[in-house]
Amino acid sequence: MTLEEKLSILSAAAKYDVSCSFGERRKNFVYYSAANGKYIPILKILLSNACIYDCAYCINRKSNNIRRATFTVDEVVKLTLDLYKRNYIEGLFLSSAIIRDPNYTMEQMIKVAKKLKEEEKFPGYIHLKIIPGADEKLIEKAGMFADRVSINVEFLKKEAFFNLTPEKKPEEIQRPLHISSIKYLQYVEEKKRHPHVNPYSPLGQTTQIIVGATNESDKKIIEFSNKLYKVYKLKRVYYSGYVAINNDERLPQKSENPLREHRLYQADFLIRFYNYSIEEIFDNSENLDLNIDPKTLWALKHPELFPIDISRAKFDELIRIPGIGLKSARKIIELRKYGTLNLDALEKIGVSLKRAKDFITVKGKTFKDLKTYMPLFEFSQNEYDS
Ligand code: SF4
Repeated sequence: MTLEEKLSILSAAAKYDVSCSFGERRKNFVYYSAANGKYIPILKILLSNACIYDCAYCINRKSNNIRRATFTVDEVVKLTLDLYKRNYIEGLFLSSAIIRDPNYTMEQMIKVAKKLKEEEKFPGYIHLKIIPGADEKLIEKAGMFADRVSINVEFLKKEAFFNLTPEKKPEEIQRPLHISSIKYLQYVEEKKRHPHVNPYSPLGQTTQIIVGATNESDKKIIEFSNKLYKVYKLKRVYYSGYVAINNDERLPQKSENPLREHRLYQADFLIRFYNYSIEEIFDNSENLDLNIDPKTLWALKHPELFPIDISRAKFDELIRIPGIGLKSARKIIELRKYGTLNLDALEKIGVSLKRAKDFITVKGKTFKDLKTYMPLFEFSQNEYDS
């Protein structure tokens, strides 16, 4: 099999892992990934899709009749360097199916990262997936050569592991997550005293949860993510909508609505960066409303707090206004030192007037009649299915 054929198979096989990327796929194997505060193009591939496990939801499971391929360490190194030199990519995301056993798989992935960093002096970004069940020593090594590591938590409950991924034990996920968090936090502390200390995954750790393969509510998912952020200090939890690729009676027959993923990200951001509590986001419901974003819904439920006067509001009040983000709130506070802001000025600094107008006062005027943000038609599941 040629290198190009392997690339085609193993980049397509990697697309269901969203724990590194957030954005469109480009030129078959290049994705955009959030690394160090900016989005960069990365080569996103599996080392192998020849898995010895049989997870119900996975295209690469051993019982599927698909084309299999496995890169050698040198092939991944060569491919990464070639694409980097041609300015196609700025980094590598490497995951893998489990070949032989978890330790062997992890070792091969570490060899790739080590060779790139130590021998080839690769200056780009490397994200390594931690293989469930890999030894602690290997987890440590992975973090030494990778800028970021991740391990996919996938599910909220132990039953889901027993039912859907019987070869993986929940402890084989939790233990590396725990070890990796401790090593990362030790590194962060140590670096304050010794700036040249050996790194451990300096850009932190991320994970992925599959949404819709099991029946947890949005609230349960967000509570679980909140725990991951607080206890394990994760940089990011990615929500991966379940895709019905295998005809398996243990799983739903239909893929999850992509809008649900989007709403979960919105709720996640509001809680982490906008100081909303989980209770405020969910009120008395278990699921997010697909018809309206959670920030606008919260504002509509609290008419007593609006409209807010743009020329006097504090930062914490500004960021509660739909259509005003963290950056535009900071700019409003900065710019109003020099004069009163009008609608044009707000638009120029990035405020979405379409969403904000109903909730603000500008130069003493309100715009409450323009309810342009309200969806006219209800979203229906049938519409999506067709
Ligand atoms: S171990 Fe990973 S690659 Fe293998 S079947 Fe399970 S999810 Fe798929």
